Amino acid sequence: MADKKPKASPRKGLVEVFTGNGKGKTSAAMGIVLRALGHDLKIRIIFFMKGKFPYGEQKSLSRFSNVDFTVFGSLDFVDPRNVKEEDRKEAARALNAGREAMLSGKYDLVVLDEVNVAAAWGLIQVEDIVKLIADKPEQVELILTGRYADPRVVKQADLVTEMVAIKHPFDDGVKARAGFDY
Ligand code: ATP
Ligand code: MG
Repeated sequence: MADKKPKASPRKGLVEVFTGNGKGKTSAAMGIVLRALGHDLKIRIIFFMKGKFPYGEQKSLSRFSNVDFTVFGSLDFVDPRNVKEEDRKEAARALNAGREAMLSGKYDLVVLDEVNVAAAWGLIQVEDIVKLIADKPEQVELILTGRYADPRVVKQADLVTEMVAIKHPFDDGVKARAGFDY
C-alpha cells in the first residue's frame, strides 16, 4: 500500500501573538519575516511607537522588495504617564495602515509590532484590535507583538507565546546594543 501523503491544502493564515516581559518578541516576528521571505511571500510590517531610532531590522528590511514597512511614532519615546495627542494620532494611523494592508489582498503576512503596548498605554482601543483580528481575511497571517497582550486578543489568537525574562543584561546595567537589541 502506498504511503498516504498529506494533501496540499490552501494556506490558512493564523493569528500569532508574541508577548511577555522577556526579550525576543520583535526578534521572533522578524525571524518569521525572514522565513517568509525565503518562500517569496509578500509582507507588510507596521512598527508602532518606534520613533526615529536607528533599528537594524529596518535597515535590513529596506533591502527586500517583498517587504513594505512603515515606522509610526514621533521622535521621542512614548511616556505612558504622559501620552500626547500626537502619540494617539500616530498609533491610530498605524492601526489603520495595518488594517488596510490586511484587507488589501496584497500581503501574505502582516506584522503589527508593539501593537499590544499601544493598546495597554491607551494610544488605541483594544476593541479596534479585536475587530481587526475578526476581519482578517482567511489567507493572511497576522502577527501581533508587544508586552501586556490583552486577554481578549489572547483569546482570539491561534498561537500565543509569552517571553519570560529569566535574565536580562539590562538589569546588570548593560545598555541596548546595536546589532543585537536594535
Ligand atoms: P527584541 O526587539 O530584542 O526582540 P522585544 O521586542 O522582546 O525585544 P521590547 O519590549 O520591544 O522587547 O523592548 C525593546 C527593547 O528592550 C529591545 O532593545 C530589547 O532588547 C529590550 N528588552 C527586551 N526585554 C527586556 C527586559 N526584560 N529588560 C530590559 N530590556 C529588555
Ligand atoms: Mg519589541
